[in-house]
Amino acid sequence: MGIAIIVHGGAWEIPPALHADHAAGCRAAAEAGWAVLAAGGSALAAVEAAVRVMEDDPVFDAGRGSHLNRDGEVELDAAIMDGRRLNLGAVASLKRVANPITLARHVLTDCKHAFLVGPGAARFARQVGVPLCDPADLVVERERLEWQARVANGFSPETEFAPDPADTVGAVAFDQEGDLAVGNSTGGTQFKLPGRVGDTPLVGCGLYADNTLGAAACTGWGEQIMKMVLAKTAVDQIARLGDAMTAANVAIAYFQHRIGGLGGVICISPEGQVGWAFSTPNLAYAYRTTGMTETTAVLGARHSAI
Ligand code: ASP
Repeated sequence: MGIAIIVHGGAWEIPPALHADHAAGCRAAAEAGWAVLAAGGSALAAVEAAVRVMEDDPVFDAGRGSHLNRDGEVELDAAIMDGRRLNLGAVASLKRVANPITLARHVLTDCKHAFLVGPGAARFARQVGVPLCDPADLVVERERLEWQARVANGFSPETEFAPDPADTVGAVAFDQEGDLAVGNSTGGTQFKLPGRVGDTPLVGCGLYADNTLGAAACTGWGEQIMKMVLAKTAVDQIARLGDAMTAANVAIAYFQHRIGGLGGVICISPEGQVGWAFSTPNLAYAYRTTGMTETTAVLGARHSAI
């Protein structure tokens, strides 16, 4: 049986000056995941490895370098799901964990609950040995300046509710055992209200994995993705159509036409075939499947309506 990994680094209008960094970050993440799979590791381990690379890369809106909320703080969400048993682990509103995907994996493996938030999640991190950092360590200068500019422009309903997809990260993997897994990690939307949680850690919305149907990770405007249960929608389309690329396109086309959805999806079929689609101007992604001699990293640009 083959192996496959696909990662995303956000769907939005990525400024040209950032294209190379986004593609390079996605490539490094896909290669980290591929190394795990090629050594016989699990899809779950590959997803965690890939997402950690992007959480550690300050280019992305995940881990250090994430967008700041209205209080000028980083608040992180992540989730991971195992397609063999349908187990999942999710965390949200973290202020002191640099790699939320690892904490999410501990929730999946070491916790009787599926979703922990805020101070309770931080307490669980301590229990399972996931390091806690100073919240200031997660803030980078680029985001601090961006936040200051927004504050200087005043707090208007437009800035509060404007659709603002970002460079959230995610990964989907297929291992030698034929197992699928998916993970997502984000700092959420820029200037979000404190306590806001988007689609990223919500099962069925930001991510879904079931070995018998397929697996998908989403990125984009979370409030819209939640309405559409977009990851499960994409997975159901894989099961219905039998083709990951067509399924991704159908899911995103419905998302776009039904509610003007802004976002992207990456997915893998139960046979290990990858797919992707997006309704935003850009999607950063990278993938490798059995038969490819190297990772393909793409800063996708959408030239026409789907
Ligand atoms: N979906 C994320 C959120 O709404 C943002 C993103 O994907 O960039 O929090």
